[in-house]
Amino acid sequence: MGAPLYNPFMRAVSTTQHLPYRGRLAPSPTGLLHIGHACTFWTAFQRAQANRRTLVFRNEDLDPQRSKLEFARAMMEDLRWLGIRWQEGPDVGGPFAPYAQSARRDLYLDTWRKLRDAGCIYPCNCSRKDLANSAAAPNEEGDDEPFYPGRCREKLGAAKSHDTPQDVNWRFLVPDGETTEFDDLRQGRQHFVAGRDFGDFVIWRRDDVPAYQLAVVADDAAMRITEVVRGADLLKSTARQLLLIRALGLPVPAYYHCELMRDEQGVRLAKRHDALSLRALREQGRTPGDVLGLCGGQFF
Ligand SMILES: [Zn+2]
Repeated sequence: MGAPLYNPFMRAVSTTQHLPYRGRLAPSPTGLLHIGHACTFWTAFQRAQANRRTLVFRNEDLDPQRSKLEFARAMMEDLRWLGIRWQEGPDVGGPFAPYAQSARRDLYLDTWRKLRDAGCIYPCNCSRKDLANSAAAPNEEGDDEPFYPGRCREKLGAAKSHDTPQDVNWRFLVPDGETTEFDDLRQGRQHFVAGRDFGDFVIWRRDDVPAYQLAVVADDAAMRITEVVRGADLLKSTARQLLLIRALGLPVPAYYHCELMRDEQGVRLAKRHDALSLRALREQGRTPGDVLGLCGGQFF
């Protein structure tokens, strides 16, 4: 394989530090929000309040199979019940509308084109079976994407012949061996090595849905987000997103990753923990104060 067509060191990176604070709540309507979400979103709300600035609600409903309108409705209702307020969102509008990812496809397509033209993505038609058979490192807990060994990298040169991303997976070529570092405002200094901690990740899916990494980077920049508050399960994704941000020449926001909540067995809370959903707690007669009391003082 030849050298990458782009040199990631060439681009000067700016930050959002000098801009007025803009935070975001970005839940996916794929289930009911649980107490872990409540704690993270409450932290995001508190940080925006402390800065006397804007909080944006963004509905991350990209996955047409898993996103449900009833869950979108429930998550806004549950967050409002908790006492969280936002100044921009699907319900209240705002200068960067629409605030649902399913309505922002043009932006994502434009972002895909920029990455294609920069020579840092390639089409991959490996099947799930191909990947299962490769000698990739096993996926560790908490990371959503299996390590991809880069077998389609030779198709990098063919990327420019594609006018649209459909029918194949598109992957971002990571600079192997390079360390991505960032200062997380909650978790401290972080570093991840490309090609070791994560491989070439998907930015557009074979079923013609933009991948999470691409959509989040495009939206945070377009909505002028200055600080990203989310769960610590996304720390490694932040390293991936920083590579995308650099390739696109976008400003880098600040990051604040909250601790993940676990159940009594030490299992990370997920949307399948229905008993700990805000809905269930509310039906049991718990108050917003009770719920926030369970967060264990992780705020600030
Ligand atoms: Zn492939």
